[in-house]
Amino acid sequence: LMRNAGEVEFHQAAFEVLESLGPVVDKHPQYADEGIIRRLCEPERQIIFRIPWVDDRGTVHVNRGFRVQFNSALGPYKGGLRFHPSVYLGIIKFLGFEQIFKNSLTGLPIGGGKGGSDFDPKGRSDGEIMRFCQSFITELARHIGEYVDVPAGDIGVGGREIGYMFGQYKRMTNRWESGVITGKGLDWGGSRVRTEATGYGTVYYLREMMRHQNADFDGMRCVVSGSGNVAIYAIEKVHALGGKVIAASDSAGYIVDEDGIDLELMKQLKEVERARISEYAVRKPSARYVAGGSIWDVPCDAALPCATQNELDDNGAKALLAGGCKYVVEGANMPCTPRAIELFKQADVRFGPGKAVNAGGVATSALEMQQNASRDSWTFEYTEQRLEHIMTDIYKRCAETAEEYGKPGDLVAGANIAGFLRVAGAMDALGVV
Ligand code: NDP
Repeated sequence: LMRNAGEVEFHQAAFEVLESLGPVVDKHPQYADEGIIRRLCEPERQIIFRIPWVDDRGTVHVNRGFRVQFNSALGPYKGGLRFHPSVYLGIIKFLGFEQIFKNSLTGLPIGGGKGGSDFDPKGRSDGEIMRFCQSFITELARHIGEYVDVPAGDIGVGGREIGYMFGQYKRMTNRWESGVITGKGLDWGGSRVRTEATGYGTVYYLREMMRHQNADFDGMRCVVSGSGNVAIYAIEKVHALGGKVIAASDSAGYIVDEDGIDLELMKQLKEVERARISEYAVRKPSARYVAGGSIWDVPCDAALPCATQNELDDNGAKALLAGGCKYVVEGANMPCTPRAIELFKQADVRFGPGKAVNAGGVATSALEMQQNASRDSWTFEYTEQRLEHIMTDIYKRCAETAEEYGKPGDLVAGANIAGFLRVAGAMDALGVV
């Protein structure tokens, strides 16, 4: 704790994983002897840098940039960039730590890393966003590369930002190195299904959890928090599989639409106009907007927190239980507090942890890297099939590992242990490095 003072989110993420590893160390004592767990908790490298940029009025701003290259035993560091004012080292380290196990679970050759900045993109013009992204990547460029570290998007970083960063990187290096970053546009090296991947994957994972209980989406009422990239495509897939999403949110409030969220309207507002979600109820008066408040007060069968860390606490969990919720799947990273997860466990609510549930995003990023390396471009259908297969496999591995290590039904333990075993095996083989 002293060694990483003040990094509360990192402590929370590390504690959750370490808590699961007791049965693993009993079975494989060499992992403790070789310091694998201690090495896993210490990033291989952390980079912190200055990002100076000029706004539209000519004022100079200085933000702070981060890249934590956590573990490269399985492949080049891989993980997104987050632009949000709450970003500091503790957030990037928690996300990077989670990423190690998530990437391991995909079965693909990718290590774990994460980065970002405390820059707030809200209300900034296109020109300001471009200048910020150019300044950010100008420094980061010296630390990344197809075989080194491959960033992607996260909160506040979507296709527009990836474009500005890739453009500046290309200009600086005079190379078309498409494998240096993922989440690119389809015309310039991107992969089909990457935009949809995290949301779709989240719902595929939920479908597997339900299948296991002989349930399906027919008649399911779902609540999805957030209205960004993950939330929008989770809603799309729930609707495609026959369920109904009746509520969504942003950081200012939530909307309830008993007809089921109108996705075309949502995409227009969030992807095109970059408007607030309150606007949804203005354009569709039969829907209701609640300013502030907690979206978890809306009764549902399944809850999909897809916004941010610690957005669902014990009060949220109690409200969900009172509303009859039977499934909770984490589309976001660490959206549920430890106390909320404990309450779900006690009430026998089926719970899917983020590092398994939302792994479809990074998995499809790895598929983008495969297409870039072979200068190929796959169809939507084929790419989605690969994603579906990967998600089904992750669920199966979580469930089987939980069973094997004496925790049947505990997908948190299953994900942590299965993710750990693959990285630990590689670290063991590579020696003390
Ligand atoms: P976006 O920036 O596209 O959307 C984030 C959404 O969450 C917005 O609706 C935003 O509302 C809301 N939100 C963000 N911060 C807060 C906050 N502090 N309080 C309340 N609401 C908040 O991000 P993504 O959809 O890409 O990411 C969402 C989550 O999913 C994150 O935890 C991310 O790490 C995780 N994730 C994303 C992946 C991806 O492929 N994009 C892959 C795996 C995980 P507002 O606009 O008001 O800020």
